[in-house]
Amino acid sequence: MKYKETNDHSFLFGENYFIYKHREDQDALHLYLKSHPHSCTCPNCGVESRKLQSTYERILQDTPIHCKQTILHIRAYKYRCLNPNCERKVFMEELPFAKPSQVRTTALTSLILAVSMFLSNEGASKVLDQIGIKVSNDTIQRIYNRIEFIDNPDVEAVGIDDVAIRKGHHYATAIYDLEDHHLIALLEGRDSETLKVWLKGHNKIKLVTRDRATAYASAINEILPECVQVADRFHILQNLLDKLKDIFKNELPTEIFIKDGVILDEAPSKVEKKPSVAKLNQLHYDNTPPVNPDGTELIFDNKKRKLNSKQYIDHAEGRKKNKN
Ligand SMILES: [Zn+2]
Repeated sequence: MKYKETNDHSFLFGENYFIYKHREDQDALHLYLKSHPHSCTCPNCGVESRKLQSTYERILQDTPIHCKQTILHIRAYKYRCLNPNCERKVFMEELPFAKPSQVRTTALTSLILAVSMFLSNEGASKVLDQIGIKVSNDTIQRIYNRIEFIDNPDVEAVGIDDVAIRKGHHYATAIYDLEDHHLIALLEGRDSETLKVWLKGHNKIKLVTRDRATAYASAINEILPECVQVADRFHILQNLLDKLKDIFKNELPTEIFIKDGVILDEAPSKVEKKPSVAKLNQLHYDNTPPVNPDGTELIFDNKKRKLNSKQYIDHAEGRKKNKN
């Protein structure tokens, strides 16, 4: 078998785009792209045009290759709309991997969001930098702020769940379409009032799966009394465990005393331990100071001080004075 080098990079950007040049420097890998087809449909009237007006360069940061920042330079076309009734004279080529006016590919934006979901913006920015994605923490916040929810007032089945924005501090109510699980709305807080307002605008709902919050249940009962509510096993078990915890807390004392495998009716009385006199008397301990052969007390000094030095005599006299 003979091996042939391939020039096919279609696995990177699809059949319609080809790489015509690449350049690598210390900081980044630059890929230069162009599209094969020379026709595009007008976003205004939908008529296809083959009339090229001009080209322009779009520069996008993409997901990194080999952990190196990867920049795409795309030579994109501007087309002239040939439909005489169309208001749009010139339109830009639409790129399959980036939305108009974005400086990042859609894949990169998804990756940034996925990483920053589990980290602070600052932490995410540092981690992403390590794998070749340059994005500041402010930009990550801007990407988050730009997330939009596509509402559907005709939705018939929704899931409602409370989510912690910051655990213990800030909660929200997430509502998603049960058919494709896309997020329809994110309401501030998790009380019934906000949900009621939202439900009023979505009166075709026939089925709601919700978490165990009674606030949600009462809001649904009030606004959509005909609607079927579904509680899942996870939430029912959680309800049951909470109830059991309350029962145990009320019924059981805070401390239970067990001795030899038997539960005592009351706390055992405390026994104070005293040293045994008989045992102490058995100990023979000579507490008298050692003496010199002439019978005087032997002064033990392990520091080998010069006892006759002026300093030592002064200190000894000082001590005597203090005593008096
Ligand atoms: Zn047009």
